[in-house]
Amino acid sequence: MVSISTKKILNHKLFKTIKMVIEECGIESYIIGGFVRDFILIKENSKDIDFLCADSGIKLAKLLKKALVNSSKIKIFKNYGTAMFSWNGFKLEFVGARKESYNFNSRNPVVEKGSILDDQKRRDFTINSIAISLNKTNYGKIIDPCNGIEDIKKRILRTPLNPNKTYNDDPLRMLRAIRFSSNLNFKIEEKSLEAIYNNVNRINIISKERIVDELNKIILSPKPSLGFLILDKTGLLNKIIPEVSNLKGVEEVEGYSHKENFYHTLEVLDNISLKTDNLWLRWAALLHDIGKVPTKKLIPGSGWTFHGHEFVGSKMVYKLYKRLKMPLNEKMKYVQKLVLMSSRPIVIAKEIVTDAAVRRLVFDAGDDIDDLICLCKADITTKNQKRFSKYHKNFELVTKKIIEVEEKDRIRNFQPPLDGELIMSYYGIKPCEKIGKIKESIKEAILEGKIPNNKKAAFELMKSIGKELGLAPANEK
Ligand code: ATP
Ligand code: MG
Repeated sequence: MVSISTKKILNHKLFKTIKMVIEECGIESYIIGGFVRDFILIKENSKDIDFLCADSGIKLAKLLKKALVNSSKIKIFKNYGTAMFSWNGFKLEFVGARKESYNFNSRNPVVEKGSILDDQKRRDFTINSIAISLNKTNYGKIIDPCNGIEDIKKRILRTPLNPNKTYNDDPLRMLRAIRFSSNLNFKIEEKSLEAIYNNVNRINIISKERIVDELNKIILSPKPSLGFLILDKTGLLNKIIPEVSNLKGVEEVEGYSHKENFYHTLEVLDNISLKTDNLWLRWAALLHDIGKVPTKKLIPGSGWTFHGHEFVGSKMVYKLYKRLKMPLNEKMKYVQKLVLMSSRPIVIAKEIVTDAAVRRLVFDAGDDIDDLICLCKADITTKNQKRFSKYHKNFELVTKKIIEVEEKDRIRNFQPPLDGELIMSYYGIKPCEKIGKIKESIKEAILEGKIPNNKKAAFELMKSIGKELGLAPANEK
């Protein structure tokens, strides 16, 4: 018997109004889905609430909207008998109880009216099928015909109906299973895992946008490797991001082997997830080594190299984003940049940390320098304790130097101390190659630490370079 009290959540002003409306109209209604699941998990209460009605959901939505002042405009989907609106930060969604049957080529079901029980059974997982009654006769009672509460306690994901049919009908559910498993650290029932494995090819009917939505949620899990290991095990990873699954394995030739780059990548992703919720920084961690697959080479007598993998990897990011129909915007450029620069701080940290190297690093990374350092620290996965602490110590040195150099030379968002206009007017010349040369030499001298980053020093240097280039000041002509 269930002994969970729903009083605490039903005390909210929102539910008091709902109770009144339902008592008056008599529409049999329940709360269902993620809100109930999260409440039972004693997670923070979600702000998205799904309502299930014995009749159409639209009628209740309209009545409730009237009773709740300051609610948003109502959106109605007549064909599905659903409606939604927001109120006070809550997203309220109303659906009429239904049965579903599926067409092979689409994940959109043919909808048919059904009982409350039918509707609970058509849900993806038992943990999402638990309902709380909002009706007068049994207000607050938990209705759990699929034993969702027991599964929450056992931390298991199970489909109410045959898993093979469930995933075959709507293959998005395969990714939802992995997303919930990764987010909540729940196990997917063995039968279900097998069914996912058997339905992997069905993922082809799912739109890229939906796939990426779920993928992002997996990446944002507290420990994303949990999800990625299942994606890999079921064969879905290879279908969605083969660039990452291709990192798997260690090749040994003539006694030379290399790092296992797939598990390394997952470790880096987990490490970075302890530090940041920035989705795109997590994406950069996931993709930072993908260039190692096409660049891998055995140099006889020396070992494996992955020369240029950062550059190749950053190009692959573009292709991957394009294929997954992800926006090719600033965020993608940020991921590309971090992949491209992912070895730079490590090289510095492994050697003597010179001011010039740090200045160049800050110049190239700009405002993303802190994220880059964060990525590189996460990239230290060596199990050799001595090396681990040596790299981390060197990174502290790099971080300290970055602050010093920044205070002195303001390299982060480098603005040339002399602009082209000033140089042109000093020599009385039009834009030409020589102006570019002078500007570049000044920038190089600052980055190398030959001159400080100020106008006076830059001006002096300009005069001597101008002379070398055969330029005379305008006022001496
Ligand atoms: P969250 O909002 O945290 O992502 P959720 O469980 O609320 O999780 P929603 O996508 O908001 O997920 O869906 C609400 C409910 O609708 C789910 O709890 C589940 O009962 C049902 N549901 C959603 N998508 C599917 C699907 N593809 N197949 C079957 N049932 C689904
Ligand atoms: Mg939800």
